[in-house]
Amino acid sequence: MSKLSRELREQGQDIINLSIGEPDFDTPDHIKLAAIAAIEENYTHYPPVAGYPELRRAIVEKFKNDNGLTYKTSQVMVSTGAKQSLMNVIFCTLQEDDEIIVPQPCWVSYPEMIKLSGAKINYIKAGIDNGFKISAQQLEAAITSKTRAFIYSSPNNPTGSFYSYEELAELAKVFERHPDILIISDEIYEHINFTGKHASFAQFPELYDQVVVVNGVSKAFAMTGWRIGYMAGPEWLAQACEKLQGQFTSGACSISQRAALSALTSSLAPTKEMCKTFQKRRDLVIRLFNEIEGFRFHAPEGAFYLFPDISAFFGKSFEGELIKNDEDFCMFILKQAKVTLVAGGGFGDADCVRISFAASSDQLEKAAGRIKEAIKLLK
Ligand code: PLP
Repeated sequence: MSKLSRELREQGQDIINLSIGEPDFDTPDHIKLAAIAAIEENYTHYPPVAGYPELRRAIVEKFKNDNGLTYKTSQVMVSTGAKQSLMNVIFCTLQEDDEIIVPQPCWVSYPEMIKLSGAKINYIKAGIDNGFKISAQQLEAAITSKTRAFIYSSPNNPTGSFYSYEELAELAKVFERHPDILIISDEIYEHINFTGKHASFAQFPELYDQVVVVNGVSKAFAMTGWRIGYMAGPEWLAQACEKLQGQFTSGACSISQRAALSALTSSLAPTKEMCKTFQKRRDLVIRLFNEIEGFRFHAPEGAFYLFPDISAFFGKSFEGELIKNDEDFCMFILKQAKVTLVAGGGFGDADCVRISFAASSDQLEKAAGRIKEAIKLLK
């Protein structure tokens, strides 16, 4: 899809890209200035593997202020993006014969990371009719004697679903009965939340020792290219991650760490503004796609994705080309509407497609208009 869309662009075609997985905003100026100062102040040597102490302290403060969570700096570990934090945790805790539970749809990297560890994935289907969330019964039924971990993201990529504190409480009761299961809580979309209140399993005192929170600056501060993520959890796990990372990549980029320090210690006003813009766009895409017959969706509570079920179009065709699945649908939309979407199969739900609203309102209106016209061609 990306290759074809690039080729079409090179041919001069006007393609609207709604497949983007990062904020379409630039990093705020004060963060960029902190990075420039870091270079001038010679933050150019190897940083400590676990991160600069002042950054780890800022992360501890962030957890206290934003989430009401208490960690020691020794429980916190900085990495090259949340992605490396997740990989560290998975590699340090899972091996062949272990099982990990993954609610599906899920971010594409979880299955691939887990495969590298050799562990087996036990998926739980989180369907659209349940707001793409799992129930306590489903969770209980998925647990076996080999279950070592559970991984999920809330707000979620690709569905935008978000578990409130009350919803987590139901699942928490199940985890309380299984204290050996590590909960890997990916909270990278924490600040892009339209309900106004984030929630984490780590906030349940009974589960605190069982939870590792993974977060980072990529989405909250429009800093995807800087590659700074972090984990907070049991001290033994932070220490294991430090050992592993020490052999893989060492500490995360020194300049980026200083930029992340600025991000985490300054006002959240730019982040809140960005979230407001995403919320307006969320409302816009809901209105626009409600007007297109055949798109069935759950209104996202966070992140910047709509994940509609488009299976109503399967079996229809245009000029002899039959739409059999999500990929055919994306190809049809790319060719006829000049809009790039992402097929849902890669996230574990091939009845859906992912539409990113990390694009301007004008682009979203134009894209929806084109999709509406293209759909009329299907017989
Ligand atoms: N977790 C989820 C659910 C994501 O969607 C992404 C990025 O798309 C990441 C983690 C990775 O974040 P980072 O850029 O910090 O590696």
